[in-house]
Amino acid sequence: MGRKFFVGGNWKCNGTTEEVKKIVEMLNAGKTPSTDVVEVVVSPPYVFLPLVKSSLRSDFQVAAQNCWVKNGGAFTGEVSAEMLVDLGIPWVIIGHSERRLLLNESNEFVGDKVAYALSKGLKVIACVGETLEQREAGSTIEVVAAQTKAIADRVKDWTNVVIAYEPVWAIGTGKVATPDQAQEVHSELRKWLQNNVSAEVAANTRILYGGSVNGANCKELAAKPDIDGFLVGGASLKPEFIDIINSAT
Ligand code: PEP
Repeated sequence: MGRKFFVGGNWKCNGTTEEVKKIVEMLNAGKTPSTDVVEVVVSPPYVFLPLVKSSLRSDFQVAAQNCWVKNGGAFTGEVSAEMLVDLGIPWVIIGHSERRLLLNESNEFVGDKVAYALSKGLKVIACVGETLEQREAGSTIEVVAAQTKAIADRVKDWTNVVIAYEPVWAIGTGKVATPDQAQEVHSELRKWLQNNVSAEVAANTRILYGGSVNGANCKELAAKPDIDGFLVGGASLKPEFIDIINSAT
């Protein structure tokens, strides 16, 4: 089974109602390949999820940017997986480096969240990636393997998991990983899955690249054998997101 190209758009903490409507208009007007070729998932802030879900073209899906680690209750400010399911939101991003680093989300906490979200029927974009310091210390593979292991320790069925490899030094910096740098980590991650989970999971799990992807650099990255799509931040708010989706072909 081939791995269908996947393009996620992470809008982060951006947008007003008017701006969000304009982005949806732009997306709805874009000419893109069919869902047989590419899966597109955009992730607005929580408060805009119902608006985006109800106005977005039907061949694109929506994701939340996070969810709570267990059922709701006395967890002020959190949004539970059950609430996302109730709203008909199919996907959630978990373990984004901005949450790992700014909100101190540990590998174990991220693994618990991935497992809980999956158990409630959500599909998960699970993010991993090293800091510049870790890369310069030569520990990139060790870091992403430990992040992936914390998920693998808690998840048996990988059908609804997409991994996003996002080197922290490339996120929002304009400093994209070279296609060879990205391919090297993707290939090591796939080997890790093969050795520690199963050959089937390694062959079927999509591994996205994220970090300063734009309309100009996406084609070269997409040509690499182990890059199965992208998680896009800044450029997902702009018309070039359509070009990035089109790099699937
Ligand atoms: C992201 O936030 O997941 C991301 C990859 O951001 P950017 O594309 O802006 O680097």
